[in-house]
Amino acid sequence: MSFPTRRLRRLRTSEKMRELVQETRLSPSDLICPIFVQEDIKTRIKIESMPSIERLPLDDVTDEVGTISDLGIPAIMLFGIPSNKDETGSSAFDDNGIVQKAISQVRENFGDKIVIMADTCLCQFTSTGHCGVISNNKVDNDASLELLAKTAVSQAKAGMDTSSPSAMMDGQVAAIRNALDDEGFSDVSIMSHAAKHRSNFYSPFRDAAACAPEFGDRKTYQMPYTNAREAMMEVETDINEGVDIVMIKPALSYLDLISETRRRFNIPVAAYSVSGEYALVKAASQLGYVNENEVTDEILSSIKRAGADMIVTYFAKSAAKFMQES
Ligand SMILES: [Zn+2]
Repeated sequence: MSFPTRRLRRLRTSEKMRELVQETRLSPSDLICPIFVQEDIKTRIKIESMPSIERLPLDDVTDEVGTISDLGIPAIMLFGIPSNKDETGSSAFDDNGIVQKAISQVRENFGDKIVIMADTCLCQFTSTGHCGVISNNKVDNDASLELLAKTAVSQAKAGMDTSSPSAMMDGQVAAIRNALDDEGFSDVSIMSHAAKHRSNFYSPFRDAAACAPEFGDRKTYQMPYTNAREAMMEVETDINEGVDIVMIKPALSYLDLISETRRRFNIPVAAYSVSGEYALVKAASQLGYVNENEVTDEILSSIKRAGADMIVTYFAKSAAKFMQES
């Protein structure tokens, strides 16, 4: 059947008609809101390359989570900026570390009213800024696994719901799963950065989390953005290691991978819309070239349409706000 019998415009005749046939609907419950918490600061620090995003002192975390929760966002993702960095990133797995303190504060104040996810990595905590420990000038995969596992266990002790390993070390999901189970945290889930690419869209985040590598780059562990089959192998490997949610990162330039992951695997799929994606929209909207909320709605809808069940985004609060208003 084709024109003139088939007229697709019939279902676009009014707002209500369009609403009726809308296939993808965004909701605040699709979103995960990142939070940066910094040790030993008293007031919030603005992040220049990410307008409206701030590093919070520990004392502000409860307020922030209250705002997020009131907007109907079900989950937060905690990142910590410690005062002390060393070669092994030991403050990442310190039971009194900044992330652990933030987790227990949120757990204490919100119970199970919000899902507490935490980034499980070493790069904010190592003096080298790398996601693992260095031996012989290289990031040592297997030595890093033990530290990542210790970090996850320490975060679980503080009350974390979901560990989000982002180091891209081979075997990190299995190492964390085994350690969590051994320590009695079999209910703590894992959302891995399964296919995390060595992306140029991360640069504002390094401002936010103070974790640029001191030497070299992350090309020996993060994925090249040219390889889709390899990305599927990363996802499959994490599933075989017992992951609960797989994440594709970044999101907007990687919609094909989100869609392919959704098609191939029966597992929840997350997408991380990263700092550079945020910064581009912010910069263009500040110049008056695009409308921030309209473009954000389109970007988040596209990520969901591609197959993401949940989206980590720096627009979480502003998007939840415009969704509530519309
Ligand atoms: Zn890292």
